[in-house]
Formats: sequence, C-alpha cells, structure tokens
Amino acid sequence: MKKFGMIIAISQEIEGVLHAFGEVEKICEKPFETFKVLRKNAEIYVALSGAGEIASSSATQYLICSYGVCAVLNFGFVGALDKNLVCKQVVACEAAVHYEYDVSGLEKKKRGHYYENDEPYFYFDKNLLAVVKKDFPEIATVKLASGDKFICDSNIKNGLIKDFGAQICDMEGAGIVITALRNGVPAMSIKVISDNADEKSPVSFSEIAAEGTRDCAKIIVDLVDKLSESENEKFSILQSNIENSKQHFETIASFKIDHDEHPEGIYLSHVDNGIYTYDIRFKKPNRNDFLSTASAHSIEHLFATVIRNDESVKDKVVYFGPMGCRTGFYLLLSEVKEKEAEEIIVKCFKKCLEMDEVPGSKRKECGNYLDHDIVAAKKDIKEFLNSVKE
Ligand SMILES: [Zn+2]
Repeated sequence: MKKFGMIIAISQEIEGVLHAFGEVEKICEKPFETFKVLRKNAEIYVALSGAGEIASSSATQYLICSYGVCAVLNFGFVGALDKNLVCKQVVACEAAVHYEYDVSGLEKKKRGHYYENDEPYFYFDKNLLAVVKKDFPEIATVKLASGDKFICDSNIKNGLIKDFGAQICDMEGAGIVITALRNGVPAMSIKVISDNADEKSPVSFSEIAAEGTRDCAKIIVDLVDKLSESENEKFSILQSNIENSKQHFETIASFKIDHDEHPEGIYLSHVDNGIYTYDIRFKKPNRNDFLSTASAHSIEHLFATVIRNDESVKDKVVYFGPMGCRTGFYLLLSEVKEKEAEEIIVKCFKKCLEMDEVPGSKRKECGNYLDHDIVAAKKDIKEFLNSVKE
C-alpha cells in the first residue's frame, strides 16, 4: 500500500479537497490536525499545517516521520506575479525559492540563496510533475517565490519578478520542498491563483475558496489515484525503503521481549542485500552495567569459533563482533531469517559454555591476548541465555 502525504495550510483550502475525496477519517489533533483518506491502492494523510514556512516544513517532516509517506503533495491558494495568470487558474509548481532567506550580509550570496544550493530554486519532483502534465496538459508550470509574508504590495511583487523570475507567490512551498528534498522524498505542489499579490483584488476570497478549490480538488484526487495505481517503480522502492527504515530493532516475535523492561535479547537490526544484521543484546543499555572488555573479547573468540565450525550455518556467517558500547554483539548472517537465526544463536552460545579455554588466545593468535576472562564470559553468556528464555 502506497502512502502519500498532503499539506494544506488553511481550513478554507482543505474543505474542498477532503470533500472531493469522499470518506475521510480524522486521525490526529496535534501537532497538526490530520485526516486519513483511503483510496483503492493508497492511504493519504492530509495535514492542516497552518500558514507559513515553519508550519509547512514541520508538517512535511511530521508526515514523513509519523506516517512513512513516500511523496508529499501540496495544495493551496497563491498570488499571481505573472500578469498572464488569471484568478482561479490552476498551476503546477516546478520549483520554489525561499526569497526571505538572506545571508547577503555575511557572504557573497544573494538573497534567496542557500549554502547548499548553487541556484536560488529548489525543485519539485520531475516525475510527479510529468504525471500532472500528461493528464492535464492545460495546466501551466510555474516558478514559486515563497516566504512568510502575505504579499499585497507592487514593489515587493516587482522585486520577486526581477530577482527570481518568479510567477507566483505563497507562504509554504519553500518549506515543503526543502524539507522533502532533505528526506529524499519527492514533493509536488498544485496551486490555485487567488489574487494578484498587489493592492487590488478582483474577486472575494470566499468565492475563490469555493470555486477554485472545487476545480483543483478534482485534479488532486485524479492525480493521487493515478499515482497510487501506477506501477511506478520509484514509488514502490521509496515506500519499501521507508518501511525498512521503520523495521529497526523489531523484536524477534518468539522472544516477546518488552523493550523497556527487558532490552536484553536478539533483534533484527536491518536487512541489506540479503545480509541480516542481528543485534545480540547482553546488557540493558545505559544502566551502568556493561560487559568487561575481557569478557566481551573472550565471548567474541568463543562464539566466532563455535558458529564458524557449525556445519549448518558456517557458510552463512558474514561477521561476528562486539559492540563498542559493550552491551552486546553484532552477528551478520547471509539469508538467515529471524526464527532460524534465533535457534542458531542460542545453540551456539550453549556450546560456548562447554568450552574450557578461549580459542585463539595465544600471543601469536590475538591482538590483546592477556585481555581474556573465560569465567566472566561464561557468566555473561548464562545470564544472556536466561534473559532470552521464553
Ligand atoms: Zn583476540
């Protein structure tokens, strides 16, 4: 199931969109009022961000972190800078400049230029834009000047045209695109022209809110359905990357360890190209009770020897070694899933307890041969095995 995030700044803008989606469930009140929409192949999380760049950038991060969305879409009203754009016209943003970002007093950078960016514009996702253009070729592609200022002043307006060649202005787009880019998540922004960003306003805001939103909402819904139905590989990869990053330290089910109370245990940390990284946690983190260096060192020698001699698994062992924090060990296995790994780990530690000396602990065999303690090692292994018993 693909998950999309949507940022909408103000309530007049959100109502029409939610209405067009049909069934909507409110799932969260704070930090942002959030709604969940179910489509055939997608879940859409819509956050009412509030106006301004801080609100929009934090709402973008919130949707990415809290719901694991694989793309962020934005919809809202904008002022027209380009005189060819007319009220209620729907446009798609190609790029946004944060025109109020200004370090010209410090550096030889002009206003709107970030350190990490060679040009003032941050670009919305080209693939998403292509989907919009394919189905709605009449929609104009424009450049957006974005800042925490509602513009109704010809001088400011002309400055944005002159300095950046911007065609529209808003108060959220830069926060959304910059945050999305930093997360490696594609973003897109569809806007409706509501005013001319100067002293004269041709139609009332409520009229724009009703009519403009209605047209645009249709496009948004159609677009989301297109994206969710498409077998677009990029989205599938993005979504699985996001899901995988959430799998960090999931407890192996059979151990049923409560992380807070019993963090000792075996955790699948991550899977990368078929290599399963297991976190074998001997000690509760940060409780002032750590493995001694001699014990950790001896366990390393004992366990590595046992597992690398075990016929059933020796060809699948990639790496075993202690954690620098001295609370446990890492074991990397090739294509060995949780259930099997758990059995192997327990079996091998039990075998370690049968050994009478630390293998490879002679001067020629080890880099710190005096730093071994088989008694402490066996004590730590016994405690670990007790902690992972069902
Ligand atoms: Zn050694």
